Amino acid sequence: MSLEDKNGNFVARGYIGRQNKGLGWVLSRKEKEAIDESFFFNKIAAALGRRSRYFSDDQTTAFRIFNGEGDGIGGMSIDWYDGYCLINWYSLGIYSFKETIVEALSSMTAAKGIYEKKRFDSGGKYVPDDDFVKGERPDFPLLVKENGIRYAVYLNEGAMTGIFLDQRDVRRRLKDAYAKGKTVLNTFSYTGAFSVAAALGGAKKTVSVDLANRSLERTREQFELNGLGDEDREIVVDDVFKYFKKAEKRGLLFDVVVLDPPSFARSKDHVFSAPRDYGKLVSQAAALLEDGGVLLASTNCATIDMQRFKEMVKEGFRDAKMDFSVLEEHALPEDFKTCEEYRESSYLKVLFIKAARINRRRME
Ligand code: SAH
Repeated sequence: MSLEDKNGNFVARGYIGRQNKGLGWVLSRKEKEAIDESFFFNKIAAALGRRSRYFSDDQTTAFRIFNGEGDGIGGMSIDWYDGYCLINWYSLGIYSFKETIVEALSSMTAAKGIYEKKRFDSGGKYVPDDDFVKGERPDFPLLVKENGIRYAVYLNEGAMTGIFLDQRDVRRRLKDAYAKGKTVLNTFSYTGAFSVAAALGGAKKTVSVDLANRSLERTREQFELNGLGDEDREIVVDDVFKYFKKAEKRGLLFDVVVLDPPSFARSKDHVFSAPRDYGKLVSQAAALLEDGGVLLASTNCATIDMQRFKEMVKEGFRDAKMDFSVLEEHALPEDFKTCEEYRESSYLKVLFIKAARINRRRME
């Protein structure tokens, strides 16, 4: 369909697709451009072309090949997992083009198989289904590599695959610059991806905390895959907020704390909302840091921009009565191409922060 201004002049062509981000997406500003098979083929070809260096990197075999509006088609993304494609559909509107998009992928990539996640239930929720689309079904877990780290991936077990590819650069920095000889607490640890990166970087101890029972087995699996023993690799299935209290009581302190919570989470006795609660979370995490320790604070919440995120971090450290300095800032990696006209597309904000205990320094 076309968008017109109030005088009936052409503005853009796009499609209607209700999703949590809005009502649809602009696809073209050119009046004569048809939204047909070749439109989709061209966009996907251009996106693949931009990622050619990823395809030739044998140390990283999982990455994003199409990032929605950043690559010119909002409402969908496509990831590459060592020869298998995973398409995320964020609205029924874009899903109606499925056949063309699957055809484009089949003809332009060497994909052995294609999977999908339908994320267009109310509120952008995943619609549970057999997510296989076409080609071969591999034996799961599928083993992928990221900067040489091995991760186990499941493409047909619910909404998530076992790894969030957007944290690739952050995991590498943790491994290369912050882990050696350190004690690392990884909260909201999911399958322990940050813990494994830290362990491979030489962390002397990692503690991974996640509420989900499956995190235990999945985290163990990742450690095993990377040839890491389970000594000093504690995996705790617990509510992070409860763990914080217990750790504080026991006087536990860590050199590094990783904070990468979901934007919203509801546990039995806690509701966490990043825009409301991130500052408090920082203060709780900071309380468990050694003097001079490092907080890796991350949020994928699109409604918090970097400026607001830094303010929340500041509030958190102030409440914990600690000084801090930001060492590094990260956003999405290059394969997660964003769109300048839609700032929210750059949703990932990550800070490496060095903490200093004010009280202790005064006493010395
Ligand atoms: N940081 C992870 C991704 C986190 S996904 C990574 O980089 O791989 C969000 C995780 O938070 C899920 O595994 C979910 O089980 C967990 N979670 C949500 N609320 C929680 C809570 N209150 N306590 C512990 N874990 C929680």
